[in-house]
Amino acid sequence: MDLFFNTAFDLYQLITHNSFARVVFALLTGAMIGSFINVVVYRLPQMLKNYAVIDMHLMHPTELTESRARALLADVGLGGRSITPCCDNRIKARHNIPIISYLFLRGRCAYCSTLISSRYLINELVMALLCVLLVMLGLNNLALFFMTSITALLLIVANIDIRYRLLPPQLTMPIGFTAILMVHYDLVLITMSQGIISAIALYIFLTVANDFVAKTKGQILLGQGDVELIVAVTIAIGAQMSLTVLALATLSSWLVAKIRRVEGKKERAFGQYISVFTFGALLILVQT
Ligand SMILES: [Zn+2]
Repeated sequence: MDLFFNTAFDLYQLITHNSFARVVFALLTGAMIGSFINVVVYRLPQMLKNYAVIDMHLMHPTELTESRARALLADVGLGGRSITPCCDNRIKARHNIPIISYLFLRGRCAYCSTLISSRYLINELVMALLCVLLVMLGLNNLALFFMTSITALLLIVANIDIRYRLLPPQLTMPIGFTAILMVHYDLVLITMSQGIISAIALYIFLTVANDFVAKTKGQILLGQGDVELIVAVTIAIGAQMSLTVLALATLSSWLVAKIRRVEGKKERAFGQYISVFTFGALLILVQT
């Protein structure tokens, strides 16, 4: 036990006093968080679908009988060992090392050689690099912890919104709580009253604007999930920054649609743009 504490203490000393060790530590931690993000992105939508199936059964027990509901339920939870989606084999520990395993297996399943989506690698790389960036800002430990948490949540939001057009409160609520704690611990240049009042005002403004556009044009301005996301982050970035984030997100979404020649009528995912620019705003506002 003594040996464990001594080693842990030595490691902590090394990380606090040696900047190269700090960057390596950030890379490894970021890659591991990225790997966990992949698990959440894969399983959370299935869990949400399960809740929806259970709700449907409880509300309409005659139309969706218990046996049919049970057949629709996916076997998921956030714990437990991972199973390959392609061939239902248990993923071995040595095939589950962030970044390295993907490269070693050349992006293919170890059992059946099915191509594995590159977004698994991309998420691990992106989170690793963002963690290095956060460490290089010279933030104190508390700021580093909360910035890493909110960055991970924003990356999950971006992934799930792009893949499933889904922005559930199970993600926006924790983002809102993280934002409140960041303001509470004075980690950003926003006071609690500024943050809360901005968030409430923005929520009212967006709801009224949404209603108005729905009545006059029969279209929706922002999805409910997008509204909840921007309101949640507004607590930590304030009204000015959040309006800037909305403007930049709208502009880039429009540009991307132009470049990819997507039809205007189709509802597009917007959460990834809000996430990216919110991260930028937090970088500007975070206190070192
Ligand atoms: Zn497989």
